[in-house]
Amino acid sequence: MLALKILIVEDDNVSALLLKKALEKNHHEIIGIAATGEEALDVLGENDVSLVMMDINLGGELDGIKTTEIINEKYDIPVVYLTASSDEETLHKIAGTNPSAYVIKPFNIRELNMMIELAIFKDKKEKELQKLNNELEEKVRKRTADLNEANKELKKALEKEREIGELKSRIVQNVSHGFKTPLTSILSSAQLLQIYAEKEHPLKQKLVKHSKKIENSVRSLNSLLTSVLFFGKADANKIDYKPSRFFTAAFFNEVLDVVKANNDNEVTIRTSFNNVPKTVKSDTELLYQVFENLLSNAVKYSKEKGNVDFSVSVEDGIMSAEIIDDGIGIPEKEQAQLFERFFRAKNVGITEGSGLGLSIVKKCVDVLKGEISVESEAGKGSKFNVKIPIG
Ligand code: ADP
Repeated sequence: MLALKILIVEDDNVSALLLKKALEKNHHEIIGIAATGEEALDVLGENDVSLVMMDINLGGELDGIKTTEIINEKYDIPVVYLTASSDEETLHKIAGTNPSAYVIKPFNIRELNMMIELAIFKDKKEKELQKLNNELEEKVRKRTADLNEANKELKKALEKEREIGELKSRIVQNVSHGFKTPLTSILSSAQLLQIYAEKEHPLKQKLVKHSKKIENSVRSLNSLLTSVLFFGKADANKIDYKPSRFFTAAFFNEVLDVVKANNDNEVTIRTSFNNVPKTVKSDTELLYQVFENLLSNAVKYSKEKGNVDFSVSVEDGIMSAEIIDDGIGIPEKEQAQLFERFFRAKNVGITEGSGLGLSIVKKCVDVLKGEISVESEAGKGSKFNVKIPIG
């Protein structure tokens, strides 16, 4: 049989000594005899004890049951109760503290040993059960966490899919709408050109006007398609920064040519280039999107024969540009949405647009690691400011 380190808690000296003898006979080591609950807790605090034999009726503040409750809280040591009474009330109290066993006095040695063995066996099984339980709880906890994680991923994927679905239908709607006007224009101009050709009239001016209209309509369709393709790329996270060295004058001339070709308002674009090097290193495609969209908007939303001031300067590796117009401006409460896809302010009237330009500008400025800001007042005009680091 296992030799145990036992603490006896018994206020009757004679009973304690008898118990000690009986236990020692069975090769157990008696760590101490405590007459009160307080004394027992002191002994437990200082010694390594594997079993406590606990009398229920103790003198002092703490009786056996209260002492056992404290032991259960603080230590993981099996307790065997010693009790003189087996009345229901006592047994009920005992059961509440989940004892490992209890012995009813007077007891014989055989009975005592059996109870001790039972207590140790129960304690061992309880510990095994506790261990299994802990493992099980840990597994459940981990599985729940995995499940929650998978659930989150699923929700995210569904949300993304829903957003993409929404975006696709908005693109289809906007693009189809955007195609209608230039297509109608192309069609009627082409028909007119045919009529003029048939009549062999020398309507040179009209021929020029309508071929210009066709050209502009095709350009506007092309720009719409470029925007849509750009967003296809942006959504697939395929917009990379691809820097190359380029001639600044050639670059800005190209942008201005395209903008001027669509200048139906007869707006004057006044340019000012300050300290701009002959060549710089950056991503021309992204820069093109930024300036073409900002300048086109400035022209498009200007009043007839208005002015647009476009100034560029370079300092400490930063290219700063200002695009100022004295056009319709942007109502203050709508300015927060300015860079959102498909946003169009309420004051645009019949001016054509897809609402994609500024969101493209924002995306490009982000990829270029630059900044963009706007100041605008409805009816007075707008000022866009961009700062882009260049090599
Ligand atoms: P759009 O194709 O409609 O021009 P953008 O994305 O380029 O789309 O611009 C979004 C909206 O911001 C425009 O519809 C317009 O309401 C407003 N906006 C942009 N630039 C200007 C500007 N220079 N002046 C007035 N409003 C502007």
